[in-house]
Amino acid sequence: MAIILGTIESRISQVIVNSKKCPKCLYISKWELKSTIKYFTLFRFRVFRLGTRYHLDCKICNYSESLASAEYMPLKAKFEAEENEKEQEKAEKLQLIEDDLIRINTQKQAIESIKQEQAHTELSDWVSMVSGKPNNELLRIYYRERFKYPPEMIVAVQSQLRKRRLI
Ligand SMILES: [Zn+2]
Repeated sequence: MAIILGTIESRISQVIVNSKKCPKCLYISKWELKSTIKYFTLFRFRVFRLGTRYHLDCKICNYSESLASAEYMPLKAKFEAEENEKEQEKAEKLQLIEDDLIRINTQKQAIESIKQEQAHTELSDWVSMVSGKPNNELLRIYYRERFKYPPEMIVAVQSQLRKRRLI
């Protein structure tokens, strides 16, 4: 039976680094900060770690720049801190939007209650208007001229006729 020896690389993409010009493809784009761990394998099982390589990769052409671990650690910390800051800013913006939505809703409710009050006032205006009309006029409006008047008026006429026991 043959013993199958080999190596395997486990690549961890850590953070996306700010834009930087690539010496190979010459594009200015985001770079990825990565660490690649190489393992010695036996029958495809990882046996031990051979070493870790730290590198910055161009996301366009995959050009890779090696970094010493002393360079890698502070870079990683710096970009992770920046990511956290961005997340924090996003959360703060969302909070502001939520606050605005709450304010808008409160205003909407206030407008709605003013509208309801107005509708109520209008109805009571119709009621006082029809109460001054004679029976025959109210009956004519109710039975024949409904279409000439707004529905609030007809409601007021109907209740007035009921009050006078005419319908
Ligand atoms: Zn490149």
